[in-house]
Amino acid sequence: MKIGIMAIQGDYEAHAKTLDRLGVEHDFVRRPENLAEVSGIILPGGESTTHVKVMTEEGLFDALKRFAASGGAFFGTCAGAILLARDVHGPAQVSLGLMDISVLRNGYGRQLASDVHMGRTKLHKEPLEMVFIRAPIIESVGSGVEVLAEDAGHPVLVQQGKMLAATFHPELTSDTVVHKHFVAMARNGH
Ligand code: GLN
Repeated sequence: MKIGIMAIQGDYEAHAKTLDRLGVEHDFVRRPENLAEVSGIILPGGESTTHVKVMTEEGLFDALKRFAASGGAFFGTCAGAILLARDVHGPAQVSLGLMDISVLRNGYGRQLASDVHMGRTKLHKEPLEMVFIRAPIIESVGSGVEVLAEDAGHPVLVQQGKMLAATFHPELTSDTVVHKHFVAMARNGH
C-alpha cells in the first residue's frame, strides 16, 4: 500500500517525514501517471491558488477527480482542505469539490500568521497539538460529514467517506494520529 503526496509546492516534505515515521511507503505526485500506484493522496498545505494553477496545467486536476471516482482516499491539510471543499470563498476559487464543506480562506485574518492550540479529537483521548497557518475556516458542513475535531466553535478536522480534511497541520507536530487514521482509510479498499 502506497500513499501519494502532491508535491507541487508547500509542505509536502513534512508529510513524507510523517509517513516515514509510520513506516508507510509514499510517492510524490506531480503528474497524472504518478497516481497509478497509490491508494490515497495527501494534498498538502501551501498556497491553494498556486496548487490549482499547476494542477490544471499538468492535467492533475481532472486526474484527481477520476482518482476520487475510482475510490481513492484523500487527505487535505489547510490549502489541501480548500482544494477538497465544495464551496470556497474569500476569494472564491475553483476546487475539486469532493467534500460537502464550505470554507473561508484565511478565515482568521491575513495578519494572524499562525497559532498553536491544544484540542480534543474523536481519534484518541490525548489532546492534539494543532498548528494553524493562515488557515481557512470551515463555515458549514453537510449532513454526510463527520466532525472529528473543533476549535473555537469551528470544525477543524472533518471526514466524509474516504475524504479527510484538516485546517491545521498535523504533519508539523510529532503526534501521528491523524496520518495513521488516514492510512487506515486508504487501506480500506481501492
Ligand atoms: N492561506 C492559504 C490558502 O488560502 C492556505 C495556507 C496554508 O496551507 N497553510 O491557500
